[in-house]
Amino acid sequence: MAKILVTGGAGYIGTHGVLSLQRAGFEVLILDNLVYGHRNLVESVLGAELIVGDTGDRPLLDRIFATHNITAVMHFAAYAYVGESVHDPAKYYRNNVVGTLTLLEAMLAADVRQFVFSSTCATYGIPQEVPIPETHPQSPINPYGASKLMVERILADLSAIGALRYVSFRYFNAAGAEPDGSLGEDHHPETHLIPLVLLTALGLRPAITIFGTDYPTPDGTCIRDYIHVSDLATAHVLGLKYLLDGHPSDVFNLGNGLGFSVQQVVEMARRVTQRPIPVILGDRRAGDPPALVGSSAKARERLHWQPQYADLETILTHAWQWHQHRHG
Ligand code: UDP
Repeated sequence: MAKILVTGGAGYIGTHGVLSLQRAGFEVLILDNLVYGHRNLVESVLGAELIVGDTGDRPLLDRIFATHNITAVMHFAAYAYVGESVHDPAKYYRNNVVGTLTLLEAMLAADVRQFVFSSTCATYGIPQEVPIPETHPQSPINPYGASKLMVERILADLSAIGALRYVSFRYFNAAGAEPDGSLGEDHHPETHLIPLVLLTALGLRPAITIFGTDYPTPDGTCIRDYIHVSDLATAHVLGLKYLLDGHPSDVFNLGNGLGFSVQQVVEMARRVTQRPIPVILGDRRAGDPPALVGSSAKARERLHWQPQYADLETILTHAWQWHQHRHG
């Protein structure tokens, strides 16, 4: 059984990735610094081996690669708050770029040469065409997107000299929760739209503030492409198998190709939860493009990826089940 090192495997997307790997028969070793990750989910739900530490800790990485027979690395660990990245860019470049480079150097020194990377649609910046294809120019408008783009460049350059093969996934907006209710989103602090809307429905927050109502979109609020976290996780397993089958490095968008405005998300959440969700109309948040919708045709064709939970109502329903279970 191939053993996969999963960084960030105690986080929101990482825990779902680990579950998908386990279901596909892989053995998993998690490296997570637990700054945002959840030990209890790793221990009680996943039962995977956990090493607590940073991707920037080279001696630790060297020990891990020396003592475990790792076939490939799946790298989820990163800081991922767009707003925070604008105000504290160095934190993002240190963790997301320097941390990843350290991981890559340790991996290559140990002769581990297959890498699955969590990139982001934030590398595109303001779209010139929608849905955005992978060939779209990359011109990020916030440090988070820039930090991920730098890693994409590092990977391309390492791949060009034959040092490794990689698959990068450019995620659109991950949302939802494991349909069986065992895993879900629980960030501290929580900044993402869907969990904040649902915490408001639960009465744990007084209102949801809509960041900007004067965008050039039909209702003036930002449009995003929400993708179920379990569908993201499945794509990672397919990407890993693609590498293990010997395919060359490649980059894939992961989205549903459908955009929903912040206002539409709130309305759908009112329908799913059957609860009042008070709204405050606020100012724009720095670093937010007006609309991000992706084309995932390439992942469907090359990886045979088929999202199971593509509609927003299902995504919200699963997230609602999780939030009720977690906080209700
Ligand atoms: N958003 C909002 N209010 C909030 C949080 C987010 O209006 O309290 C908006 C945000 O401006 C963006 C969309 O919801 O247009 C999705 O934001 P989120 O932080 O969930 O994901 P991101 O797009 O930043 O990855």
